Amino acid sequence: MLGELARLEDRGRGRRRRMSPGRVQYLRFKARYQDALLLYRMGDFYECFDEDAHTLSRVLDVALTSRDVGGGEKSALAGIPYHALDNYIGKLIGAGLKVAIAEQTSDTPGSDGIVDRAVVRMVTPGTVLDSDLLEQSRPNYLMACVVDGETAGLSWLDGSTGEFVAMEVPSARVVDEMERIGPAEVLADARAFEMIEARREEAARSAGSGGERPVVRRLDGADLDYDDAADLIKRHFDTPTLDPFDLEGSELATRAAAAAISYLVETQMGNAPYIATLRRHRSDRQMHLSVGALRDLDILDPSSPGGPTMLEVLDRTQTPMGARLLRSWLVSPLMDLAELTVRQRAIERLHDDFGLSGSLRLALEDIPDLERLIAKLSQLRASPRDLRRLWSGLSQCPELILLTTTSADDASISPLFEGISRHDEVQQLIDAAIVADPSARVTDADVIRDGFDSELDSLRATARDGRAGIAEIETKAREATGIRSLKVGYNKVFGYYLEVSRPNLSYVPDHWERRQTLVNGERYATPELKQLEATVTDASARIEDLQQSIFERVVGQVAEHAAQISRTAAAIARLDVCLSLAEAGREGGWVMPMLDTGDRLLFEEARHPIVESVLGPGSFVPNTIDISNRDSQVLIITGPNMSGKSTYIRQAAVLVLMSQIGSMVPATSARLGVVDRIFTRVGASDDLAGGRSTFMVEMVETASMLNQATTRSLAILDEIGRGTSTYDGLAIARAVVEFIHDSSTVGCKTLFATHYHEMTEVGEFLERARNLRVEVAEDGASISFLYRIVPGGADRSYGVQVARLAGMPSSVITRALEILGELESGSARSQESVDSGVADNIQLGMFAVGQAVKSAEPSAALRLAAETEVEQLTPLEAMNLLADLRNMAQTELAGQQQE
Ligand code: ADP
Repeated sequence: MLGELARLEDRGRGRRRRMSPGRVQYLRFKARYQDALLLYRMGDFYECFDEDAHTLSRVLDVALTSRDVGGGEKSALAGIPYHALDNYIGKLIGAGLKVAIAEQTSDTPGSDGIVDRAVVRMVTPGTVLDSDLLEQSRPNYLMACVVDGETAGLSWLDGSTGEFVAMEVPSARVVDEMERIGPAEVLADARAFEMIEARREEAARSAGSGGERPVVRRLDGADLDYDDAADLIKRHFDTPTLDPFDLEGSELATRAAAAAISYLVETQMGNAPYIATLRRHRSDRQMHLSVGALRDLDILDPSSPGGPTMLEVLDRTQTPMGARLLRSWLVSPLMDLAELTVRQRAIERLHDDFGLSGSLRLALEDIPDLERLIAKLSQLRASPRDLRRLWSGLSQCPELILLTTTSADDASISPLFEGISRHDEVQQLIDAAIVADPSARVTDADVIRDGFDSELDSLRATARDGRAGIAEIETKAREATGIRSLKVGYNKVFGYYLEVSRPNLSYVPDHWERRQTLVNGERYATPELKQLEATVTDASARIEDLQQSIFERVVGQVAEHAAQISRTAAAIARLDVCLSLAEAGREGGWVMPMLDTGDRLLFEEARHPIVESVLGPGSFVPNTIDISNRDSQVLIITGPNMSGKSTYIRQAAVLVLMSQIGSMVPATSARLGVVDRIFTRVGASDDLAGGRSTFMVEMVETASMLNQATTRSLAILDEIGRGTSTYDGLAIARAVVEFIHDSSTVGCKTLFATHYHEMTEVGEFLERARNLRVEVAEDGASISFLYRIVPGGADRSYGVQVARLAGMPSSVITRALEILGELESGSARSQESVDSGVADNIQLGMFAVGQAVKSAEPSAALRLAAETEVEQLTPLEAMNLLADLRNMAQTELAGQQQE
C-alpha cells in the first residue's frame, strides 16, 4: 500500500493531479491500517475499497460495485449504511477481521475539496469491549505468545473485564495453553506462529478442517525488546519496578504482557480501559490440563453435540463475573494445598450454613456485571443507566459484608470474600447526580437530578418559566381574540406558534406574524411568543450541553474508584462461585475431599456427575476408585462395549479435577494426593475414515503424552489400539501399559479401559497393575449390564451379546454365535500348534516378548526383541520397534507358509 502511494507520487505531479484527492487521502489512511479492514465514512455510508471491498462483500453479503478513482482507474467498492454499523461489526470481527473505522471529522471540505477524516475506533476479535458483542458468561481474551528456545511467554488480557495475566511455560506447551485459555485473538511471534500453524495443519488432517479460531496475527519481533516491554508495563501501572507483578527477570512473560497491552491500547486509540493489575500465573501451582483432556472430560463443551458439560453441572452462579470465574477455575485446577484449603473451607461453610447461603444468594440476585461496567466507566463510555446499575449493585455491598463477616469474632467467613467493601462515596455521588430511572442516553431527557448543579437548576427554571409563559400566552390570546379553539403548538421547523382554524381567521390581530399555512388554518407567531421561544430554546440547548458535561464529570469521578470497585467485583465473583459449588454439592449430596501430598486416589462409592445428571438421581451405580503408585498404579478395566468402562475411568479424572478446583465431589468419601497433570487418550477408531495411519498417529500421540507424565500425573486411556486390527491393537495396548508400568521416569497413575479381554493377561503379569472388570449378568445367550466394577478380568468380550442388546436381528446373532464357536475352536488348535513349535508368530510374537516361546530356532524378530534394552528406548522408538517386529514376524511367517 505504501508502495502504491509512493509509486503514484513518483509518477509526477501531472499524473497525481488526475487521481482524485479523495483517493489520495484514502490511500494514505489505508497505508497506516494495512492489516485492517478500513471502513471509510463517506456521507451516510461506510465504504470499503479495493481488496477490502471484496472482503466486505463476501463477509456481509453486500453488493460489490466499482468507482472511478481518477486517472482513468476504477476500484472495487462496497459499503454499509452508517446507522447499521453496530449490526455488522459483530459479523466482521466474528470473521476474524480487524476493523478500523474512519469518520469524517469536519463538515466542510478543505481547500482540496475533501473533508478531514480520522480513524476513531478499531475493533478486533480480542479487543472488543462492547458488551453487546460479547458473551456474558465467557471472557474475551487477547493473547500474546513469544517463544525463545525452550521457554515461552504467554499473556492474556480481557479488556472488557480488566483481567490481565502473564506466565512462562516450556515452549512445547504453547499451543496447549493457548487452546486451554481459548483466546479470541492471538498475537504470536514467528516461532509461536509456526507452532500454532503446525497444530492447525495437524488438526486439519485428522478432523478434515483446521480450526479457524482464534485469529492469529504475527507479532513483529522488533516490537518486543525486553527493556521497552518492562518500561511499558511499569508506565502503564505507574510502578517503579515489576515486583508487584512477580515478573522481575521473567523476560518472556513481560514481553508477552507488553505486546498484549500495547495492542489493546492501540486499538482503543490510546484510551485503554481500566486494568486493575497484571497477575503472574505460576504454572507450577496449577495443574496442567491439555485441551484434549478438557474435551474428553466434557468440561466446558460437550464431546458429543448437545450433551451436558461439567460447567453446566456446577454452574449455579448468579452474576456474569461469577460465571466467568467458574469457567476459569475449571480450566486451571490448582496444585497448591494452601490455596485449595482456603477454597474448600469457604465452600464447606456455605454448604453447611443453609440460611447464610440463602441470604447471600438473595443479595447477589441483582448484582450487574461490575467488571464490564468498570471497563465502560474507565473509557467514559458508560450510560446513565449503567451508572444506576452500578449504584444498585454497590448498594448490596453492606449486606454482603455483614453476611460474610460473622458477628462473634468479626472474622470473615473466608479471606476470599474480604475484598468486598462499601462504596458509600460513589453511591452518594450517583444517587445525588442521576435520576432514579434515567433514559439510556444523556441527550434523551433529564438524567441529572434537580438540586445537583445550581447552574443546571437555574437553566431548567428559565426553560420551565418560558414554557409556562408560552402556555399563558395561549390563555391570554384566547381571551383577547375570543377564538376558543386557538392553541399553542411546536414543531422543529417553525418553532412555537399559535394555531387558528380557518373560520376564525378574521379574528386574528394584524400584528401577528404568519408562520405557516395549513389546509384548515394558519399558524402565527407574536413578538412575545418569539421572545419566550428564544429563551426556552437557548436554555434547552444549554441544558443539553451542561447535562452532558455534568454527566461526563460524574462518570469521571466514579471512574476514579475503579480500583476499589474492581476489588469488590473480584471478591463477589469468588463468593458467587463458592456459593455455586456449595449449592451443587448440596443438591448432589457430595462430600468435600481430603487433599494431601500422598500418592493415592481413593473415591469411595463415587459417581460421574455428568452421566448422573443425564440418568437422573438414583440411577447411577456408584463405584469405588482406588489407585496408588505403590501397589495399584495401573488399573486395567475390561468389559463389553457399553458396559460403563469409559464412564468409570473418566469419572476418576473428573473427580480429581473437581477436587482440585476446591469443589465437593459425588462420593461417600474422597481422599487424594494432588495430581499435576491429567492426560486423556481415547482410541482412534473414528479416525479410520480419515485414511491416516491410525497405528502411527496413536503411537506418536500416546508417546508424546507419556513423555510429559510424572508419578503425580493421572492418565486415562480409553480403548487404545481399537482403531486397527485386533493384533496391532493389542500390541499397542500392551506396549503402552508396559511402558507406563516399567519406565523409571513415567510411572503415572493410569486407568486403562479396553474391550480386549486378552489384556487381563497383562494385568496379572505386571506387578503394580490390577485387573478390574465390569460385572455382567448372564442369562443364557443374553446379558445385562450391572455397571458394577469388581476385581478381576473379563474372560471374553461379549461382542455378540452386545450386538443383541443393540437390536441386531436374531438370525444374525445366531449365525454370529456359530462363527464365534468355530473361531474359538480354531484358536484352540493354533494354541496347540504353538506348543508343538510351529509358532504363529503374529499372534504370539507380541505377547511372547519376555516370555519363553518354544521354537526350534529363535527367529530374527525374537532375537531383536531379546537384544533390545527396553529401558533405553523413547516411547516413540518403542513403538517403531514394535512396528519393525511386526513386519519381521510377518515376513518370517510368510516364509514359513511357503515352506
Ligand atoms: P463402555 O466404555 O464400556 O463402552 P460407557 O462408559 O460409555 O461404556 O457407558 C455406556 C453407558 O452406560 C453410559 O452412557 C451410561 O448411560 C451407562 N452407564 C455407564 N456407567 C454407569 C453407571 N455406573 N451406572 C449407570 N449407568 C451407567
